Amino acid sequence: MKYCSECGHKVSLKTPPDDHLPRFVCDHCDTIHYQNPRLITGTLPVAPDGRILLCKRNIEPRKNFWTLPGGFMENGETTTQGALRETMEEANLAAINPRLLSVISLPKWNQIHLFYRVDMPDYEFSVTPESNAVELFTEAQIPWQALAFRTVEQTLKHYFAYQGENFPVLNDHISLPIIE
Ligand code: ZN
Repeated sequence: MKYCSECGHKVSLKTPPDDHLPRFVCDHCDTIHYQNPRLITGTLPVAPDGRILLCKRNIEPRKNFWTLPGGFMENGETTTQGALRETMEEANLAAINPRLLSVISLPKWNQIHLFYRVDMPDYEFSVTPESNAVELFTEAQIPWQALAFRTVEQTLKHYFAYQGENFPVLNDHISLPIIE
C-alpha cells in the first residue's frame, strides 16, 4: 500500500500506539489501514450416485487444473451464501444441504479456505466462463496430480476418509505455498 484510500496522501508503515503490529498509517489524516486475511469459500458437491463434482479452471492462476468450486467471499453475504454462489458461478449447479467440511488457514498467503459438503439434487450442471470442463469423479478417478490447490486436495482426502453422514470438520493449516 502506498497511498491512503481516504485522502490520497502517502502512507507510512508504523506501529500505532497500543498496537502490536506495524500498519499502514496515513501521514495526512492518520487513518490506520488494517490488512486482514481474505476468506475463500467453496463446496464439495456430491452427486446422487456418490460421485464428486470438480471444475477445470478456465482462469489463472492454475488454469486447466481441477478444483472444487469456490472463490472469494463478497461483502454482505454469509459463508454459506458465498459457497453456494460460487458453485453456481463455476458449475451452474444449484447445490443443497450445505454442511461445513473443512477450514484451512494459509498464514503465508493471508487466506482462509472454507469448504462445505453439499448435495446435488440431480445432474443439472454445465461449463461456465470460469470452468472449461465440469465433470463427476469416483474416488478412483480423482485427478490427484492435476488438482489446482493443496486445500482442494486436503478437503477431498478428508471427505473420502469419512464418507458417511457423520463427519468431523477438518480444521488445519498449510504453511507451504498454496500451489503445488
Ligand atoms: Zn489519509
